[in-house]
Amino acid sequence: MRVSRRRPVAAALYCTLLLAAAHGAHAASAARVEVDAREAPRGIEHVHLVLPVKPGKLTLLYPKWLPGEHSPDGPVAGISGLKFSGKGQTIAWQRDLDNMHAFHLTIPSGTAELDVVFEVDAVPGATDNNALRTSTESLSLILWNQLLLYPAGAQSDDLQYTAKLRLPAGWEMGTALPRVGTTADVTQFAQVSLTTLIDSPVLSGRHFKTLELGGTPAVYLHLAADSDAALDMSAAATAQFRKLVQEATALFGATHYSEYHFLWTLSDQIGFEGIEHHQSSDNRSSERSLIDDDLRHSHNIYELLPHEYVHSWNGKYRRPVGLATGNYDAPMRGDLLWVYEGLTEYLGMVLSARSGLLSPADARNSWAEAAAWLQTRAGRDWRPLSDTAIAAQLGYTQSVGWRQRTRATDFYVESAMLWLEADTLIRTTTHGAKSLDDFCRLFHGAPSTPPKVVPYDFNDVIKALNTVMPYDWRGFWTDRLNRVRAEAPLEGLHAGGWRLAFDAEPSPVEKGESVATKTTNLYYSLGISLKDEGAAIVDVVPGTPADAAGLAPDSNVIAVNGRKYSKDVVEDALKAGGTEPRTIDLLIQKDDTFKTIEVHYAGHARHPRLERDAAAPDLLTPILSPRT
Ligand SMILES: [Zn+2]
Repeated sequence: MRVSRRRPVAAALYCTLLLAAAHGAHAASAARVEVDAREAPRGIEHVHLVLPVKPGKLTLLYPKWLPGEHSPDGPVAGISGLKFSGKGQTIAWQRDLDNMHAFHLTIPSGTAELDVVFEVDAVPGATDNNALRTSTESLSLILWNQLLLYPAGAQSDDLQYTAKLRLPAGWEMGTALPRVGTTADVTQFAQVSLTTLIDSPVLSGRHFKTLELGGTPAVYLHLAADSDAALDMSAAATAQFRKLVQEATALFGATHYSEYHFLWTLSDQIGFEGIEHHQSSDNRSSERSLIDDDLRHSHNIYELLPHEYVHSWNGKYRRPVGLATGNYDAPMRGDLLWVYEGLTEYLGMVLSARSGLLSPADARNSWAEAAAWLQTRAGRDWRPLSDTAIAAQLGYTQSVGWRQRTRATDFYVESAMLWLEADTLIRTTTHGAKSLDDFCRLFHGAPSTPPKVVPYDFNDVIKALNTVMPYDWRGFWTDRLNRVRAEAPLEGLHAGGWRLAFDAEPSPVEKGESVATKTTNLYYSLGISLKDEGAAIVDVVPGTPADAAGLAPDSNVIAVNGRKYSKDVVEDALKAGGTEPRTIDLLIQKDDTFKTIEVHYAGHARHPRLERDAAAPDLLTPILSPRT
């Protein structure tokens, strides 16, 4: 999964019509799920599920703990119209008193198949990310975890399902789920395990394009957008995505998929998010991601697909033992997310540069942004990094405000900075003979396999690192994961020959982020970030002028020095005083109160950059340079 570092709002991330008779090829023991998505643009998907059953007590579960989301956020509250029947007779049901995702029923004698109908109702702006509408008037993401039940006590690898999907007329689709055939707008998929079905979302839409990205096994990029114009991907960008496939396979030296499908939703209605799967990834970003000059420099967008692709190796194939659960009811443990997400964050940043998706200058600016952003995470003075991983299920869903104090999901960016430190340490100690690339080949690489899960624990990571380069890796990680230290861990950046600096003008990467997130980022000057809409304060960095002045999230900046707020007005106020100490008056609306707050500030606008530090050799440039 990948979320924006400073996303302003909770992620806009994300008929009992009996379709033609079920395909004859399914085994008797397979469940059949038929989804009618013709009303998906409205936010309603209709399900008819047929489950093989035996008479007696039966408990059915709605998927709760979702792989990639690391959270118990299966949107069970979005279900309506739930009805069970057998041989045409209604069967009563009761929800479990403790587990809201469990339904109890008694199957009458002589009943071998249970019919279940329900619909999933999703809305824009839902507080639960996973209950957000994933469809617009022009496209739909079909997430199978939302559209089925399975028997309690079973392992998802042991359950077989065949799926059938009806889309709005004329829509095309992309998915890693093998297809048996399509008639009109109804597609019949091959029988697969429940694991594979839930791991294989479908992207569909009226404005749709599929590109072949080469690779062995083959890799495809499917684009669905809210307009045809948004699909106009340049030849240069296509070449960079093809290069991404080459660079990733060169890095790991093997693959663990039979085919790979990037699903990329280009919509301002669905928002920013990425969810990894073994043979595909569900990537969601702004409608104009491919065609807007500013967005073309957004690191969140152009590191997104590399990040989710890396997960096929790091997260899906090699998976922390606490996240390798056998079904969707067992709680997941996030303690190794500093590897699962942190190393993926690092490698996603590396591969976006190696593939050219971000230019060398943009890639450095992305690292500068990461370093500066880490310095704002004041919660490091009370909370160790390891705790953010353990409590990931809280971090993903907590409010955006005050995250600089709480830290939320810091195990992404802070761990990436620590993996950079590990990489520079290996390169320096071995005089360039070894690098973290060697760890990736050892830990995630040969032999190539179809999708499979090889779990690991902390000791396995330490052992593999020691195989690459003998060192006190246990001490290295134990210290960095558990220490409580206010200072951001920029040692890897320094060892790589670069240091964080600030410039009066935003970099193209920061401009791209401002456009993508619709925010104005003043974290490194006044100490706040503002939503463009309504100038609402997203968060306040502790220890900054804004913090000293008592500003709070969810207040609105109405005026700056007596002039109505705009991006330009606040940026002009930062420029106007040079480096002289001065007062900037902000007229603030908080709840139903207006008040003028004096913010004491000295200096220009501050926007992060990297500066070459001659004290150490430049290791970052070779790390970010292509291998192929
Ligand atoms: Zn991720």
